[in-house]
Amino acid sequence: MEQFIIPAPSRITLGVNNTDKVFPVRRIYCVGRNYADHIREMGNDERDPPFFFQKPADAILPSGSDFPYPPLSEDVHHEIELVVAIGKGGTSITQASALDHVFGYGVGIDMTRRDLQADAKEMRRPWEIGKAFDHAAPCSLISPATEIGHPDKGRIWLSINGTIKQDGDLAQQIWGVPETIWHLSQSVTLVPGDLIMTGTPAGVGPIRHSDVISGGIENVGDIEIRVV
Ligand code: MN
Repeated sequence: MEQFIIPAPSRITLGVNNTDKVFPVRRIYCVGRNYADHIREMGNDERDPPFFFQKPADAILPSGSDFPYPPLSEDVHHEIELVVAIGKGGTSITQASALDHVFGYGVGIDMTRRDLQADAKEMRRPWEIGKAFDHAAPCSLISPATEIGHPDKGRIWLSINGTIKQDGDLAQQIWGVPETIWHLSQSVTLVPGDLIMTGTPAGVGPIRHSDVISGGIENVGDIEIRVV
């Protein structure tokens, strides 16, 4: 049997509601802009087609954890997002069959070093430095679609120390989950274990040391982390 010449990295997983089994995370795709009010607050054109970037799988931080404030930034922002957990892979998936590929849903926070992202945009460089740092993807347990269905509406919110900062509805998404899966699977093969963070409503803003950040999506789940 093959032996690793250095210690192999551990598998990244997320817990699943109502079971001891875990969801193995392969890749994390993120939709860049998917709520018109957030696109407007960032000064972008809401008619643009969706685009995608990635975070590394080991950026996952389970709900209930401490979030270490990352280095190099003085303007880390929260973005509360619906997370789609892919259970069945495919390429060029049709919108009509897209939901058959979804295992379940979670609640994630697309943590963003906004100052470094802004620099990258200005210099026409990739977004990794702003989006793909350690612990940049806090996420809740996954709720199976067999239990909660496929949410296309419902409140999505985030609060800091009890004060509401983001308060939207999944119905405001420009690209719904079937369209997002269709778009993404045109350019890459989706594989079981992939996660898709589907964009954030308006109200993004900075987090600070010692903040308790709570969020949730109606009928999907809740997340809470503390900034340390
Ligand atoms: Mn985002």
